[in-house]
Amino acid sequence: MTDQNRASEIARILKKKYPDAECTLNFKYPWQLMIAAILAAQCTDARVNIITADLFEKYPDLEAFASASQSDMEEDIRSCGLFRNKAKAIIASSSMLLERYAGEVPSDMDALLRLPGIGRKIANLIMGDSFGVPAVVVDTHCARITRLLGLTSHSDPVRIERDLMAILPKEIWTSWGHLMVAHGREICKARQPVCEECPVNKLCLYALGVKTDLRGAGDA
Ligand code: SF4
Repeated sequence: MTDQNRASEIARILKKKYPDAECTLNFKYPWQLMIAAILAAQCTDARVNIITADLFEKYPDLEAFASASQSDMEEDIRSCGLFRNKAKAIIASSSMLLERYAGEVPSDMDALLRLPGIGRKIANLIMGDSFGVPAVVVDTHCARITRLLGLTSHSDPVRIERDLMAILPKEIWTSWGHLMVAHGREICKARQPVCEECPVNKLCLYALGVKTDLRGAGDA
């Protein structure tokens, strides 16, 4: 079986297992997803959703975020950690959207990467979940499980993204990241994957013992 066929089959099985797997950050508008994703660095999506429930009421539009003071924003997002840098990025990216993009979040990678605080992971998330542009989000779950499955040998997210784009059909790119998160939370846990309960264990190189050194440095 080729890696392409194996990856497609894994995606098909996991889609059955997690039919509701989707972005777990709450948002209504693309700019809200951008802000939620900035807040999500080293913080759980559940915590971010608690913060944004109040935040999006207090700051109902980009203008409000762009004109917020650094100290107020820090106070409002303090509970999600790294709050100084995140507050700075939120205010700066909101300002840039207003100044350069007429208040609209761009849908292409190059423009998104110009926004302060936006890296490839957030850019792919916005492209896939706000604009329906096929994009592979490689977070720690995705990186770890994709390696365990034997669909990449890399640890660097950009290389993993490239490997996945080469073997996954485009229509699966966006859902792959969500399936990996759902699977990582439920069965393929970082501390100890429960391989005997895993519906893809016959397709997983780690479970098959083909490669046993896949959980290397950089795992979450
Ligand atoms: S078989 Fe085990 S290591 Fe492979 S994806 Fe399933 S839980 Fe993870």
